[in-house]
Amino acid sequence: MTKDNLETCPKCGGDACYTTKLNATAKNYFCFGCGFTSNDLMRIGEFDFEQYEETLPELYKDIKVDDGTTRIWYPIVINIEDKGTVFAKGTNYQNWMWAGIKVKEVSKEEQEKFKVPGSDKVYKYKTDMATLKEWGQRDFMEALDYIGFFHN
Ligand SMILES: [Zn+2]
Repeated sequence: MTKDNLETCPKCGGDACYTTKLNATAKNYFCFGCGFTSNDLMRIGEFDFEQYEETLPELYKDIKVDDGTTRIWYPIVINIEDKGTVFAKGTNYQNWMWAGIKVKEVSKEEQEKFKVPGSDKVYKYKTDMATLKEWGQRDFMEALDYIGFFHN
């Protein structure tokens, strides 16, 4: 990630929208400010939202939003194996927040329980429920920071 790719977010107006080229004419947007993502192909009337939403949680469908054009934005999910997860948590668009949860290393004794299905590998990290923390809808970046997203 370089500063060059940070542009003004078409959705929230903040200056931390990480933008990459999807193809010659379309861009992908990933906003660290509002925590939403979209791309220039995700337009009403052009994109197959039904198929895209098949695997999405109900909440994510409920809080998707357009940016004043026909482009639709969805909340981001961050899942980093050795750090943790940041996700939108709640019941509907009026009642949700950002949540962050960290991982901890699977101990030697526990390894039997953490086999990767269909192989003899074991997962090195597991979700540590005790670390679950919640933030307001404007604090996506706080949640990222909490799980160590910005640190190597
Ligand atoms: Zn934004």
